[in-house]
Amino acid sequence: MYKERKMIDEGTTVTVIGLGLIGGALCHTFKKKGLKVTGVSRSETIAKALEMKIINDGFEYSRIPEALSGSSFVFVCTPLLDIGERLGDIFQHVDKNTVISDVGSTKSVICSIAEKHIRKGVYFIGGHPMAGSEKRGIENSNPYLFYDAVYVLTPLPGTPKKVVKKLSSLIDLLGANVMILPSEVHDEIAANVSHLPQLLAVLLTNHLAEKNNDLFRNLAAGGFRDMTRIASSSYAMWGDIIKTNMNEVKKALSDFKKELSYLTDRLSDDNYLDRFFVNAQKERKTIPRYSKGFLKPLFDVRVAVQDKHGELARITNTIYYHDVNIKDIEIVNIREGEGGILRLGFSEKKDALKAASALQAIGCEVAVMD
Ligand code: NAP
Repeated sequence: MYKERKMIDEGTTVTVIGLGLIGGALCHTFKKKGLKVTGVSRSETIAKALEMKIINDGFEYSRIPEALSGSSFVFVCTPLLDIGERLGDIFQHVDKNTVISDVGSTKSVICSIAEKHIRKGVYFIGGHPMAGSEKRGIENSNPYLFYDAVYVLTPLPGTPKKVVKKLSSLIDLLGANVMILPSEVHDEIAANVSHLPQLLAVLLTNHLAEKNNDLFRNLAAGGFRDMTRIASSSYAMWGDIIKTNMNEVKKALSDFKKELSYLTDRLSDDNYLDRFFVNAQKERKTIPRYSKGFLKPLFDVRVAVQDKHGELARITNTIYYHDVNIKDIEIVNIREGEGGILRLGFSEKKDALKAASALQAIGCEVAVMD
């Protein structure tokens, strides 16, 4: 993990292309931090962003050259396949010394497209914030999305260290933790810890659907439902992810198939099964509980807390009196005199919503992350 606290000058211009969930969240935070934010999206989205006061200026896609002029950083936040298609145009129109990045969920394909367009004095560093939601669109974005999330950066080979540091400083403003990885390593890890579980969740759910029996469905409440929560994700984003990480996903599925068949052959081997379970228990303990990785285990509520006496008690007491059980609690990004962000984890979405509205009623600024 790399954490850089160097300040980015106020007034630095950042251009964000594609003001959806992720792009909107970047605008929110950068604007709050005093940067000059230019948005590029459809005109209706730009109008919403201006109304939300999360950009200083907005342009439609046809005016990208104007939007890029004078920008120090450019973030491409459109759907994965669209990012690759836009890069050529962006490289052509940015000023010298601009750092271009993206937020796509896979990195090798995008980085190899960027490598083809790279020109002297312009830099590309791939990015993947490990934060998000099943929801789409600017209306679901909020400035706390990236707090405490791992934010992977995948610099092209030969990118000067000082340029990587500069982008890391900017990401630091989001409250995220930068992790620098080669793009192919990112994609291999993502295939195993995110793309494979996603496909397995969908497969398990469809396995249940095959039974087409309400008795099975009723008994699937609980563990089965928890395990397959991510099966509700939309194919729109996942289609692009699978297409752009096909080889790694195939490798992960093939390894898994071998492991499944090995397990099937040993189902009557008590010793083997005992070791199998013990091993899983040990492994699970080594998975960090609090840092957000590729999958989100709980429904989080972020609360802006002021640095004043009794504030934490006021928040937790309010939730207690509304009969909601907090599963995780953590203070992230606290700064002396400025306050910070409190992350509250709930096992059910309805609990997160109930807690959020109770906190709003006592005047707290909150965001529900799902
Ligand atoms: P989103 O909410 O749907 O936002 C994408 C935005 O891109 C849209 O609001 C849309 O704005 C614009 N856009 C441009 N061309 C488009 C097209 N052909 N189809 C649809 N929208 C188009 O999606 P998102 O969740 O922010 O995802 C954006 C990127 O972030 C993706 O590359 C994804 O891989 C990555 N990412 C997502 C998550 C997550 O959990 N959601 C997490 C990490 C990374 P206009 O309508 O104004 O053009």
